[in-house]
Amino acid sequence: MFALRAVSKSYAGQSVLGPLSLDLPAARTTVLIGPSGCGKSTLLRLLLGLVGPDAGVVTFDGQPVTPATAQAVRLRVGYVVQDGGLFPHLTARGNVTLMARHLGRARDPINARVNELAELTRFPADGLDRHPHQLSGGQRQRVGLMRALMLDPDALLLDEPLGALDPLVRTELQSELRDIFRRLNKTVVLVTHDLGEATFFADWVVLLRDGRVIQEGSPRDLWHRPADPFVTRFVQAQRGPEVPT
Ligand code: ADP
Ligand code: MG
Repeated sequence: MFALRAVSKSYAGQSVLGPLSLDLPAARTTVLIGPSGCGKSTLLRLLLGLVGPDAGVVTFDGQPVTPATAQAVRLRVGYVVQDGGLFPHLTARGNVTLMARHLGRARDPINARVNELAELTRFPADGLDRHPHQLSGGQRQRVGLMRALMLDPDALLLDEPLGALDPLVRTELQSELRDIFRRLNKTVVLVTHDLGEATFFADWVVLLRDGRVIQEGSPRDLWHRPADPFVTRFVQAQRGPEVPT
């Protein structure tokens, strides 16, 4: 669904990504993992056309993502940003429906879709008319997810969606999110720096370091067939309860 070919990106002359080639096929959950600063968020922004590559090409459904096509791509790709990114002055409902209203969609289908999404993400109906500061961290993440799913996108990109949550809420949301991914059967690209979380979600894991792909494969491959000493160190440093057999 997405492909990157020889993509590189620098900021102020400093290379942050690439050169990197990667395929993100449809209906697969791919997890991008790696240490802080390795370029995970930048990679998602390139997929969405929020930033452009200095060299190489990013494609979505075979079409290059360019300033001219990025808007159309963003209507077909849901994006859950790292810090939640909800508008504080809008209610949960207002945040979820913002784009649909902007596109001039009719009120009844919008309301029906919000109810459907609240059910899917197990968001309490009476929370829909609250503002973000009146919701718990977990509820805010559910709103972010509803917003990303509002237009029934083909793909869903999530940037450390559970990073700011306490462990109990996080574990609960992890299971629910995985169920939702399975049920919807969408193309998912999820960013995390936590290998246990990657193992839990991933059909395919891509491990980045300093803007390059160090290893990609199944979670099992990463655990049991580390490609180089960095992967071994990364796995050792994060060893948790999710060791696949
Ligand atoms: P990650 O999400 O893996 O933590 P990022 O993609 O956010 O990493 O950042 C990769 C590198 O690029 C970091 O060194 C970061 O400081 C730098 N960077 C990211 N965005 C910008 C920007 N808009 N301007 C300058 N540097 C940036
Ligand atoms: Mg990031």
